[in-house]
Formats: sequence, structure tokens, C-alpha cells
Amino acid sequence: MIFVLIDLLLLLVWSTQYRWWGRTIDYKHPRILMYHMVSGHRRGAKFNKLRVPPAQFERHVAYLAENGWTFAHVSELKNALPDKTVVLTFDDGYRDNLEYAHPILARYNAKATLYLVEDRFDRDWSTAKKAHHDSGELMQEPKLTDTEVETMLASGVWELGAHTLTHANLPAAEPQLRADEVIQGRTVLQQKFNQSIPSFAYPFGIYDTEDVRLAEQAGYDFAVTTKEGIDPLPYARPLELKRIKVSGKEGLWSFKLRLRTGRRK
Ligand SMILES: [Zn+2]
Repeated sequence: MIFVLIDLLLLLVWSTQYRWWGRTIDYKHPRILMYHMVSGHRRGAKFNKLRVPPAQFERHVAYLAENGWTFAHVSELKNALPDKTVVLTFDDGYRDNLEYAHPILARYNAKATLYLVEDRFDRDWSTAKKAHHDSGELMQEPKLTDTEVETMLASGVWELGAHTLTHANLPAAEPQLRADEVIQGRTVLQQKFNQSIPSFAYPFGIYDTEDVRLAEQAGYDFAVTTKEGIDPLPYARPLELKRIKVSGKEGLWSFKLRLRTGRRK
């Protein structure tokens, strides 16, 4: 008996790494999920949290499709939406988004929004956040070509959003460059892909009030951050929306918990 109690106690202690007692956020408030890569983990790699293996990604999409969730693009957040609306977002523009995520999304009639860095080749943007992040891991990760992005947009599955010209650390940039990153980051994509770019994602989720002002000036309807959570409707700050982080290192139980409460911890 005592051993059973000890086991239960250990289980309880272990489970505190998950915030399973967290409050369920009303399902009338849309969930915005944040992904980066959909690919297998690399041995010893630093950024495996950003890599959701394809089979795991399929479990996410299948779970959402089979449990009454409606998929929407970010731009649709200005419409009246059904309860249990989910918005999948993918940051940066990794080629595996087309190779692995796209066929799964298409199979389940799902939708996603792609936050594309305009100048994304041969750039190691992890160093813009922390100088010691110099492994080159994200630089070597294959990126989507413009032609591949066109293919994705033509399918109707994807909507395009901006993620600056160079994945800049905005508050650290010179004023003119900072404005260009946010404002030209929109116009360049508009011209290149011949469509409106309704939303924006702050690189690294690092921004301040000046960047919010620039996002407004640029004409975005919405901007997403990396702050964890679920914003209640109507949005008080549509240019600072929270997202739910999806980790490649967590199972379906965590995914469901985050979907319900907005966060794991
Ligand atoms: Zn990014």
C-alpha cells in the first residue's frame, strides 16, 4: 500500500511539469498555433524543438479534424468564426512545410498561414538573437523557393504573411532599417506574389511599442507574437496576438493540453 502511495506521489510530482489543472479557455476564442519545421529530428541538433516529425504533425491535424475544429487563415480572424476555430501558423519558410506539412494539410482539408522571411537564403538568423548561436543549423536548413511558395498559395491551403526582410531583431535595428523590415517586408511580398499580405509575425517574438506602430503603419490587420496563450475575442490588441507553441519534443497529451489552456506551464 505504501508503495502505491509513493508511486502516486511521484506521478503527481512528475505531472507538475504539465499545467493540467489550468483553466480551459472558452472555445469561442480561436487558437493560433505556432509551428516552424515539420521534419525528423537531427541527432544532437539544437533546434529539435522546432522540428515536429511528420507522423506527429499528422496526429495533430487528424486530432483537430476529427474533434470538430474548424481551420482558418489568420485573415479570417476578422470574421465571425465558429467555436473551436484553429489557426495553424508556420514561421520562416522552411522547405519541409511544402514537402511534409502540405500533403497532410491538403488531405485533411486544413489551412495554414506561412510567415515568410523575404531574404531567407544563406542567413543564420539565430545569431541575431544570441551571438553564441552560431551553429549555422537554421542557415543550412533548406528554405522554400519563391516558386514553391507560389505552388503552396495556388493550392488554397496556404495564406501568406510577412516575417520581415531578413528576420531582424527589430528593437536592435537602426530606425530606418527597422521601418524597412516591417513595411517593405509587406510591400515586397505583395508585389512578388501579387496578393495582399494581411498579417505579420515579429521575428523571435522580439518587439516593442515602436514595432507595433510600424505594423499598424504598414497596414497589417493582425500581427502574431511568441507570447504564449489564447487572446479573448474581441481582440484588444490585434497587432500583438498570442500563440500556442507546438514543440517537436512533446506528445499528443501536451498538444491537447496547450489547445485547451493555451500553455503547458
Ligand atoms: Zn522566425
